Amino acid sequence: MSTKILIVEDEPKLAGLLRDYLLQATFTPACLANGLEVVPWVRSHHPDLVLLDLMLPGRDGMEICKEIRQFSTVPIIMITARVEEIDRLLGLELGADDYICKPFSPREVVARVKAVLRRAAVSIPQGLAFDESRYKATLHGQALDLTAVEFKLFSFLAANPGRLYSRDQLMERIYPDQRIVSDRTIDSHIKKLRRKIAEVAPSEELIHSVYGVGYKFEQN
Ligand code: CA
Repeated sequence: MSTKILIVEDEPKLAGLLRDYLLQATFTPACLANGLEVVPWVRSHHPDLVLLDLMLPGRDGMEICKEIRQFSTVPIIMITARVEEIDRLLGLELGADDYICKPFSPREVVARVKAVLRRAAVSIPQGLAFDESRYKATLHGQALDLTAVEFKLFSFLAANPGRLYSRDQLMERIYPDQRIVSDRTIDSHIKKLRRKIAEVAPSEELIHSVYGVGYKFEQN
C-alpha cells in the first residue's frame, strides 16, 4: 500500500521539489498551497503524514496543526523559515511530531519523513484501527460503537501507548474549547469505553488506570 504524504507549501518551487523527492522515495505525495484547504483535505483523504508549512495564505500552520490534532493523530512535520520559531513551536505543544527549518535539503526532509513514519508505525496498537473522519474504531475487525468523545479519548490514548495522562490533560484534549467539565466526566467516559472494549475483547485490558494519577493505554 502506498504511503500518502500531504505537502502543504505555498512556494510552488519548493512544493515541487519536495514532491519529486518523495515520489522518488516511493511515497504518494499530494500538494496544497492554501491553508484553508488543509483540514477538509485531511478529513477526506486520510494522509499518512502531513508536511505543514507555518506561513500560509488563508490560514496559519499553527492553527491548522491544532485543529487536525482535535480529530486525528496523523504525524505532522512543521516547516518554518525561522529558526527562532522552533523554540516557540515546541513551547506551544501543538502536537506536531517534528520540526524542520528552511532552508532544508529535500533529502533531509525525506529522512525525517521516514523516521517519523517509523515511530508512528511502532506505536500503532495491534488489532486496532481508527477512522478519524467518521469516529469509527474497530478492534480485531469488530466495530466499537463509540461516541465522539469516547473515540477521541481512545484514539488519543492508543496513539501514545504507555504514556500516562492526568484527567486534566485528557480533558484538554477532548474539550479544546475549555468547556468546564468535572474530573468525573473523564472517569465516566473511560468507564463506558472500557465496557465497550470488553464487549469485543473480554480478556483484553487496554485502558489502565493509575490510582490518583490518570489513565494510560497499554497492550499486554
Ligand atoms: Ca510559506
